[in-house]
Amino acid sequence: MKVIILGCGRVGSTLARLMVRDGNQVTVVDKNRDAFRRLGPGFKGTTIIGNGTDEEILKKAGIETADAFVAVTNGDNTNIMSVQIAKTKFQVPKPLARIYDPIRACAYQEMGVDTLCTTLIGSRIIRDHLAGKELGLAMDYCSLEDEESVV
Ligand code: AMP
Repeated sequence: MKVIILGCGRVGSTLARLMVRDGNQVTVVDKNRDAFRRLGPGFKGTTIIGNGTDEEILKKAGIETADAFVAVTNGDNTNIMSVQIAKTKFQVPKPLARIYDPIRACAYQEMGVDTLCTTLIGSRIIRDHLAGKELGLAMDYCSLEDEESVV
């Protein structure tokens, strides 16, 4: 699978290394050159410096032929905007935006933007851990509905 990861922070760099290890063709985009240090010296993927909402940068990263586009910058708006570009303009089959804000994640999910709200997922896992519950399957934690913490 050809994967583009936007944002080479803690999540982006970890995901990039995992995806390379699994045999995928990985390109990582970040506006900050220093961020690529997180990939380590032997990284087998490609790195592109630039803004992830710039279509020319996305084309340079190979978005026209990508199978997946994952936006994990520290900006919810950037992630939403770039995933919308990937989905509607370039028809990337698997687009996904990591969103911190649960309210925004709900709203954009309803508008058809593929989102994963790691704030909700992490909070629910911690709650279950503290309650001494056996942890569920990943999908058990992903729902954006019936969430009491979304106010
Ligand atoms: P973290 O805070 O560890 O999740 O890292 C987020 C990463 O996203 C940082 O390396 C930022 O440089 C990167 N980033 C933030 N906004 C953009 C953007 N618009 N385009 C490309 N990279 C970005």
